[in-house]
Amino acid sequence: MADKVIVCKDCKADFLFTESEQAFYKEKGFDNEPVRCPNCRRARKNEKNNGFGGRDNRGGQRSQGRR
Ligand SMILES: [Zn+2]
Repeated sequence: MADKVIVCKDCKADFLFTESEQAFYKEKGFDNEPVRCPNCRRARKNEKNNGFGGRDNRGGQRSQGRR
């Protein structure tokens, strides 16, 4: 496995999906790669804590056969 560059869905910036993060995701059983950079992820999290996040599809991560 190698580090991967992903373009953030929100801010369109490149960010690194590192080898160790990939291992972490795998360990957690996530099939999907992250689509947002750490900054945007954090921003979204904060937003949720503020009472927003009405349309978060938690548990919808079931896409198969992606490798
Ligand atoms: Zn971003």
